[in-house]
Amino acid sequence: MTPNLHIRDRFLLHFVHPPFPTMKYFSTRGGDQKLSFEETVLTGLAPNGGLYIPEHIPKLPENWINDWKDYSFVDLSVAVLSLYISSEEITKDELRSLVEKSYSTFRHPDVTPLHKLDDKSFILELFHGPTFAFKDVALQLLGNLFEFFLLRRNARKGPEEKPETLTVVGATSGDTGSAAIYGLRGKSNVSIFILHPKGRVSPIQEAQMTTVTDSNVHNIAVKGTFDDCQDIVKALFADKEFNAKHNLGAVNSINWARILAQTVYYFLSFFHIRSQLPAGTSPEDIEIQYVVPTGNFGDILAGYYAKKMGLPIGKLVVATNANDILARFWKSGKYEKVDSSSVSSETVLAIDASGVKETVSPAMDILVSSNFERLLWYLAYDHTSGISFEERQKEACATLDGWMGKVKSEGRVEIPVKALESARQDFIAERVADEETLKTIRSYFDSEPSYVADPHTAVGLAVARRLAPQNSDNVRQIILSTAHPAKFSEAVSRALEGSSQFNFDRDVLPTEFRGLLEKERRAIDVERPDIDLVKEVIERFAKE
Ligand SMILES: *Cc1c(COP(=O)(O)O)cnc(C)c1O
Repeated sequence: MTPNLHIRDRFLLHFVHPPFPTMKYFSTRGGDQKLSFEETVLTGLAPNGGLYIPEHIPKLPENWINDWKDYSFVDLSVAVLSLYISSEEITKDELRSLVEKSYSTFRHPDVTPLHKLDDKSFILELFHGPTFAFKDVALQLLGNLFEFFLLRRNARKGPEEKPETLTVVGATSGDTGSAAIYGLRGKSNVSIFILHPKGRVSPIQEAQMTTVTDSNVHNIAVKGTFDDCQDIVKALFADKEFNAKHNLGAVNSINWARILAQTVYYFLSFFHIRSQLPAGTSPEDIEIQYVVPTGNFGDILAGYYAKKMGLPIGKLVVATNANDILARFWKSGKYEKVDSSSVSSETVLAIDASGVKETVSPAMDILVSSNFERLLWYLAYDHTSGISFEERQKEACATLDGWMGKVKSEGRVEIPVKALESARQDFIAERVADEETLKTIRSYFDSEPSYVADPHTAVGLAVARRLAPQNSDNVRQIILSTAHPAKFSEAVSRALEGSSQFNFDRDVLPTEFRGLLEKERRAIDVERPDIDLVKEVIERFAKE
């Protein structure tokens, strides 16, 4: 510690930055359990239902703004991730090789390139990974982390000990399944079983999943609905005996490694926008607003961590479709599944049994946002009254646990005004109806230069456009693009039908998708949505 600090400052310094020798993680719902990064990644969801968060949010090193400005995506990943992973767990060299391997599968040299729309707005394209969706950014790394940890654990075992394996099980209606399969294909000691409703997934997405023929990848085509598939997966995880025997794992968006991987493109785009400013504009004078098409709140939560680490971000903008629980939260402070105030007469495609509305941006069709709990924890923490860091953490966990209990039992919770005010300091939230989403795709296609956006990105673009008139002159908007338009060909074609200029094959279809529908496929048919039939399949194919 610097010797000439005033006593009081010294106390403050200690208070703000408690000395943590290695980064540990704990559950948002409390308990004394402190996990290493490795345990956190392999555990996923905490046994008490909470999500793991780091003991503290690390601050950026002193000269980061100069030292990091020419860094590549890989360099930035190493720099940012190593603040959250102690080098005793993964050395910097190991981390670099994991990250290099993970992003070598991306088609663009920048990994997540920034596309300029005009002087004030930019699209951050997150879809240049193997499945053309933003989830690749996180899942490519997650697969390599799983493999790294399992290989190391098994190398420490004696010759007579059984090697540790992981059986990843998930249900998909399309998008997540393919990104998970591409993240885990060919990984040692890992098998992956993805259930999809047979014949009810879009043809491109079904082909993406079932044409992967690695021996550890198993597509299960269930005769039934997506909800049937999800119910089976939930029942498998709840079956303690089966779970223990196969060491079931999930790759859903609450896994901490996924959030961490996603913080990197906020840094990269920050530097890229500064390097693209016209002569005469000082980077210090601009304020960046990130607009994020949001479902489970993972993508935008990564931006929140970046901001709290010290990345100068103006506002983070939550853009939702008609499944607008988050947009309603920022208006009212109430987090509630069913909108008690609305008399909306807007039409949606359909509403399923649980209340989820079917929209043209299906990857954002949610009832509650699983990662939102992490933000709620920080809001609870900001308004604790304890003195020490530990006291305040305990208090925040207890508050959060109460809030989540209410969501579970009553379907809603209202947070105190002060907490809502902190949420409003960092975020804005807006919702977009399908009609506006489709119109937005059309209007960006008709613009000069033309841009074809997928329906999720279009939700972001619509919100960005809505906010632009009220932004001050120094604000630059970065809209996160979460999928390639070819993945959602139906919505894109619907938005652009009647345009004589538009030709799907020429304007949208990537060469990688050509011939995909004719490739050899592998899926195991299950005749009824029956858990025992699915168990049989897993028993038959899981890694010994
Ligand atoms: C998953 C997904 C989203 C939503 O991201 P969250 O992290 O769940 O908020 C948006 N768009 C696409 C295409 C996605 O696949």
